[in-house]
Amino acid sequence: MNMPTLDQTLIEKVTRTICDARNIAIISHTNADGDAVGSLLGTYHILNKLFSGSDGMCRKSITPILPNGVPDTFRYLPGASLVLSGDMEREACEHSLATADLVICVDFNTAPRVDCLCDALSASPAKKLMMDHHHGPDTELIDVMVSVPELSSACELVYWTLTACYGETCMSRDAARCLYNGICTDTGSFAFSNEDPSVYNAAAKLVEYGIGAADIHNHIDNTFSIDKMKFWGWAICNRLKIFKEKKFAYFYFSMDDLKNGHITSAELEGLVSYTLKMKVIEVGALVREEPGRTKVSLRSKYDVDVNQIARTHFGGGGHTKASGATCTGWTLDQTCQKLEEVFVCR
Ligand code: 5GP
Ligand code: MN
Repeated sequence: MNMPTLDQTLIEKVTRTICDARNIAIISHTNADGDAVGSLLGTYHILNKLFSGSDGMCRKSITPILPNGVPDTFRYLPGASLVLSGDMEREACEHSLATADLVICVDFNTAPRVDCLCDALSASPAKKLMMDHHHGPDTELIDVMVSVPELSSACELVYWTLTACYGETCMSRDAARCLYNGICTDTGSFAFSNEDPSVYNAAAKLVEYGIGAADIHNHIDNTFSIDKMKFWGWAICNRLKIFKEKKFAYFYFSMDDLKNGHITSAELEGLVSYTLKMKVIEVGALVREEPGRTKVSLRSKYDVDVNQIARTHFGGGGHTKASGATCTGWTLDQTCQKLEEVFVCR
C-alpha cells in the first residue's frame, strides 16, 4: 500500500476530539526510544503550528511529557527542552495530566508503560486519544483509538493520521525532523521487514521538508561517547553468552556493571541488536538489573515471534521482531535463568 487506509469516521472523530480540547497533554513511554520522542514532539509541533496562533478561539495549551525524560541521543530534536520529565518534574507532570481535557498517548498501548506516571494517567479525567502501532491496546483506558500494528512506527502513524485530519499544511520542518527520526530508529534505518511501501512513501514526504536526513542519521548512529564505545567492546567480550546450537545469545548487566563503566542504561539502547549480527544467531536478548526489577529486551531475525514470548514468559509485549518486558521483583540471576529455560533448554 502507498499509504494506510484510515477509517474516515475515525479521522473525523480524531479531528473533533482535538478541536474540542483546550488543554492537551501528550505522553509517551518510559525509557523513550527514537519513535517515542519523535512521535511525542512531532505531534507537539503539528498541534502547535495549528493551534498556537493569535486567534484566541483556537489557542490551546500543549504539554509534552515523558516519564523519565528525553535521552541524550534525542536532545537534538526541536522541542526536546520543552518536555516535562516524570522523574525530575513529577508534580508538574501529574498536574498536567490531572488538568488536561485531552491526553494524547503515542507509541505505547497500556498505562504501565508510563511507569511512574501510570496512576496519574489512569486517574486523569481527560479524554484519551491514542496513536500507536503495538498489538493489544488497552481499550478501557482509551476513548479514541488509532491503532495500526502493521505500520513501521508511531511516527509514521502520526504522519498519516494528522495529515489525514488537517492536510499537509499542518506539517513543518521541525515536525518532519521529529517524525523522520522515529521512522529511522524503529525500522533500523529501513532495515527491518519493510516490504510495505507506505513507510518509504511517508519518509519521502518528510524529506521534502528539508529535514537534513544525513544529519538525522548521524545523530542517531554516530554519537557514542568514548566511555560508551569502550563499554560496548567490554560487554561483547565479558557479558555476552552465546548458545550456538540454539541460535540464541544474550547480554546481561548488573547495576554495578553500568556504574563501573560510567554509562547509563539509556546507553545500552541498540546493543541487543548486536546479538543478531552473528550469522548463526536468530534470537537475541539483553537483560539489565534495575532497583527491585529487571528489564528484558528481545530481538528476532527471522520467524520466532518474540512478542508472544515476551508476553507468555516475561509479562511484557511489543512487536514480532522486537519486544521487551519489565520483570518486577526478579533478580538478574533469576531472569538469566528464565531466558535460558525458554531459549536454551527447549
Ligand atoms: P526495548 O527492547 O527497545 O526496550 O523494547 C522493544 C519493544 O518492546 C518496545 O518497542 C515495546 O513495544 C516493547 N517493550 C519494551 N519494554 C516493555 C515492557 O516493559 N512491557 C511491554 N509490554 N512492552 C515492552
Ligand atoms: Mn514504536
